[in-house]
Amino acid sequence: MKKRTIKSLAVVIMLAALLAFPAYKLSAVTESTVVLGNIVGSGVTTLVRGLIQGQVHNFKDVVKCLAYGSASGYGFYQSKKLVAGNHVLGGVLLANLSASVIDNVTSGEGPLSYLGFSLPLARIEIATPLAKQKRSLLRVTVSPRDAISLALSLSKSDRVSLRNGMLAFEADTPLAENVRGWAYSMFPTVLRGTPESVYQHEMVHVVQSLQLMAASPEPFLRSHRREEGKAKLLDFAGFRAQTLGLVNDLTMAKLQSYDKYWREAEAYSLIQSL
Ligand SMILES: [Zn+2]
Repeated sequence: MKKRTIKSLAVVIMLAALLAFPAYKLSAVTESTVVLGNIVGSGVTTLVRGLIQGQVHNFKDVVKCLAYGSASGYGFYQSKKLVAGNHVLGGVLLANLSASVIDNVTSGEGPLSYLGFSLPLARIEIATPLAKQKRSLLRVTVSPRDAISLALSLSKSDRVSLRNGMLAFEADTPLAENVRGWAYSMFPTVLRGTPESVYQHEMVHVVQSLQLMAASPEPFLRSHRREEGKAKLLDFAGFRAQTLGLVNDLTMAKLQSYDKYWREAEAYSLIQSL
């Protein structure tokens, strides 16, 4: 097969996998469905991302992407469990670790070569002693999607604070009738006076957003390794397109009725199962 054919095939598989998620009705979503969805979803999207980024050359690479992708998917599931159980900081850290493993293996690095953390607008990755070649200690990528989401969150809320290492927004007026909370990519907003469970629900969406970031192929980012040039402290690797996050923002939530939408199905099931 030609390289282009492989890439097109990869995109089709990924979209099919994403669309397969919402096949369940909210009430019918069991915990095992959520676990399986996370493992299979992250496993498949990691393989596709590796293919698109040109890092899958043989069967060993296929197994590496599937295995670490699935393990990270389980990590994302545990991270959402932690957030739903009010261990928000632990959940956010685990989500960032899971995203780092996917970023690393789809870039031809070892699973723990770089550890990343998403700040508002930028993701910072720190080289660990396991990195093959430390040409730069800190690698920074910037996300236009997060910039738009931050602007939206600011415009539709009244207060902002730091909560569990993340920005949290509070609004005096609901976004729409009966809406008590909402999240734009990694920014949660809750209506003033709502119970803690609303914040936890929105933070589950934040973890989902990090998961979509990790699943999105980024073929235009500069690689972790630079063959020439002096070692640097800080390296700007480019802009993250976050294609899957964007597609999800723009289409999924509108195409599917609320009670079948996979992100809601998962958030409700996790908060209910406590
Ligand atoms: Zn929700």
